[in-house]
Amino acid sequence: MIRVSNLSKKYGDHYAVKNLSFEIDKGKVYGFLGPNGAGKSTTMNIMTGYIAATEGDVEIDGHDILKDAEEAKKCIGYLPEIPPLYQDMTVREYLDFVTELKKVDKKERKNQVEEVMKKTFITDMQKRLIKNLSKGYKQRVGLAQAMIGNPDVIILDEPTVGLDPKQIIEIRELIRELKKDHTVILSSHILSEVAEVCDEIMIIAKGRMVASGTAESLLNELGSNNTIELTAKGSKKEVTEILKSINGIKSCTVDNASGGCVECFISCNSDAEIRDDLNKKLASKNISIYRLVNDSKSLEDIFLELTDDAYVEKIEKEESEKEEKEKALKAKQKKAKKSIAEEIVEELKDDETVEETEESKEETQKEAADDNENINKEEE
Ligand code: ADP
Ligand code: MG
Repeated sequence: MIRVSNLSKKYGDHYAVKNLSFEIDKGKVYGFLGPNGAGKSTTMNIMTGYIAATEGDVEIDGHDILKDAEEAKKCIGYLPEIPPLYQDMTVREYLDFVTELKKVDKKERKNQVEEVMKKTFITDMQKRLIKNLSKGYKQRVGLAQAMIGNPDVIILDEPTVGLDPKQIIEIRELIRELKKDHTVILSSHILSEVAEVCDEIMIIAKGRMVASGTAESLLNELGSNNTIELTAKGSKKEVTEILKSINGIKSCTVDNASGGCVECFISCNSDAEIRDDLNKKLASKNISIYRLVNDSKSLEDIFLELTDDAYVEKIEKEESEKEEKEKALKAKQKKAKKSIAEEIVEELKDDETVEETEESKEETQKEAADDNENINKEEE
């Protein structure tokens, strides 16, 4: 449906987006999740043809967004971060105007406007001036304009930003409705929103895609932080002995605590489930468990970790090291090619000298023959 390949956008020396590649399939809701300044709007503006990329391509249903802009744009409806609303038009006038802009067939215009107003619950507001609408309603008008032309893909940049909680719930419900007929891509800096509404999540930080997948797969892949905090009534020695006998523990600490208790922090292998074993063994020694907390990383933890400056800087460093290596390799190859080329030129030169000598030999022989002929003639 949409293919984004090696997309980069540079402002001066700064990359707003760096080497982004991904594919969007039909019928799902995709979420661009990232903190402010991550590059979400820039990516969306490039995907919708609002701005050009420094490098890379965007293909929508087989149409290049720049070379085949008209066809590509027919497939997408876009609600930018700041909706392009004309404040002095009524809702109806504005939506009529959008059908003209999008070159909707004249016969279909009225029907389409009525349909999108119905779907976004703004029919009652159609005679109101846009400037007199609440932010929530303005956002619905923005959604309605994106739906005109019945595009396959609807792209929404931070559709709930600045709305109150009730409006946020309403817009999220609308997005779920959109999913029935469209592929939806939305951006947000709010994890819970993306996790709630989207089938696929792409986490973006500093213009880079740092992870992607379903919430479940992200948790499985990145949330494998399997720890147990335990408070038990027993001696440090006994508890330590028991912990030593349990399989699946990576490391642990055991400290004395008040009331004859010990506090343990146990780090387990990602797929280990030690609680049954732990329970039985402690019980067999009459050691009571006062508190046991099994903690694995939440999606929130993963998001914070992946978008943390230090993590992204590490990726940047690895990236620039890789680039340097590639550059050095290319320079080496170029040098090798040059020396091969120089060798060939040298060889050719040598060949030419040989040919020249042979040619000049022939010439000398010819000259000598001519001279002989002349002498013979003179003698005659
Ligand atoms: P997001 O939408 O995720 O908050 P943006 O795509 O708006 O992020 O911005 C990504 C980065 O690109 C930011 O560092 C921002 O300052 C920079 N940026 C965006 N637009 C421009 C511009 N027109 N000129 C210079 N820098 C820009
Ligand atoms: Mg933005």
